[in-house]
Amino acid sequence: MLNIQENVSLQPYNTFGVAVQARFFVTVDDESRLLSALEWAQAEDQPLLLLGGGSNMLFTKDWEGLVIKLELRGREIAAEDDDQVAVRFAAGENWHESVLWTVEQGWGGIENLSLIPGQIGTAPIQNIGAYGVEVKDTIVSVEAVSIDDRVKKVFNNKDCQFGYRDSVFKRAEKGKWIITAVTFKLAKTPVLNLSYGAIQETLRAQNVENPTVADISQAVIAIRQSKLPDPKEIGNGGSFFKNPVVEDSVVDRLRETYPEMPFYEVKKAVSGEQRAEYKIPAAWLIDTAGWKGHRAGNVGVHDRQALVLVNHGGGTGAEVWALAQEIQADVESKFGIRLEPEINII
Ligand SMILES: Cc1cc2nc3c(=O)[nH]c(=O)nc-3n(C[C@H](O)[C@H](O)[C@H](O)COP(=O)(O)OP(=O)(O)OC[C@H]3O[C@@H](n4cnc5c(N)ncnc54)[C@H](O)[C@@H]3O)c2cc1C
Repeated sequence: MLNIQENVSLQPYNTFGVAVQARFFVTVDDESRLLSALEWAQAEDQPLLLLGGGSNMLFTKDWEGLVIKLELRGREIAAEDDDQVAVRFAAGENWHESVLWTVEQGWGGIENLSLIPGQIGTAPIQNIGAYGVEVKDTIVSVEAVSIDDRVKKVFNNKDCQFGYRDSVFKRAEKGKWIITAVTFKLAKTPVLNLSYGAIQETLRAQNVENPTVADISQAVIAIRQSKLPDPKEIGNGGSFFKNPVVEDSVVDRLRETYPEMPFYEVKKAVSGEQRAEYKIPAAWLIDTAGWKGHRAGNVGVHDRQALVLVNHGGGTGAEVWALAQEIQADVESKFGIRLEPEINII
């Protein structure tokens, strides 16, 4: 039986903590209830919104339709050999708890992604990444149900067309699928990714000489706790904008005025050839434009992390979005670069 509730506050379900309402709201914890909820929305002609952990969305208004809160649970070993293990997690499993479980087993692959909020099912959508690792490198397949005709499909890694904070689920297939499970390939003899300087520094400070996946996970947790505001204390959605990726001519132009501007080379495959592009930290652009710590009523820019917009309490999503657009326009006028939101604006 579906328990569809009416006029439900979404404030507890979004990490910005903005007070909006869903006209209809249902929690689904198995696939048959999910299909019934889909049928109901179609029969009642109600627009559909899927809600995972609510850590990558900014509600600017009430949702005049059905919100489906996904709570599908479970994990199983799908395949295993001497070197690798494939683990299938249901979409509603908590991301960080799932990472900690893989770390406890001593399996490597997603330890650098510890403490990212949200659920398993949303991790592929924007190809979550942190501290030198992107989830695309461990994803074997993504199972999903079509919203239109409720047919199931398995997307293999290539089908997902992963890119930087990007996948087919944000482009051609946007809004067409409900992800129900994800299978990851993890290494039994982990190859650690220590490319990120802060991880090495943290391990050195802890006198860890031969790190394990558990040491990496703990180092990442410590770094994140020291740098990023906890949504339980101050409403936020993590990085609000993506780091812009530009051509060398843009870097050259900006470095004439800002010789200290940081940038990182990223390789992009174009028609089978590797082309160099450059990622500029959006946080540096926003900070240099003078926005860090800026406050506009109840919302603002975090005072230690310029990429994070915050709700100091009582702020609305519309206020956060208005501030984000002001920052976008200012950064564009100062640097000629248009910042794109990483967060889903609802
Ligand atoms: C403090 C903080 C730190 C963060 N750090 C990082 C980071 O380091 N790296 C990073 O990549 N991200 C980071 N994020 C962003 C966020 O955690 C990730 O994008 C996460 O994957 C979102 O998961 P969620 O379940 O909360 O998604 P939600 O916000 O619930 O949903 C995101 C989008 O997916 C849709 N959706 C939800 N569930 C499904 C489903 N099962 N099938 C299809 N569509 C669905 C929603 O409608 C929405 O459009 C951070 C966020 C916060 C608040």
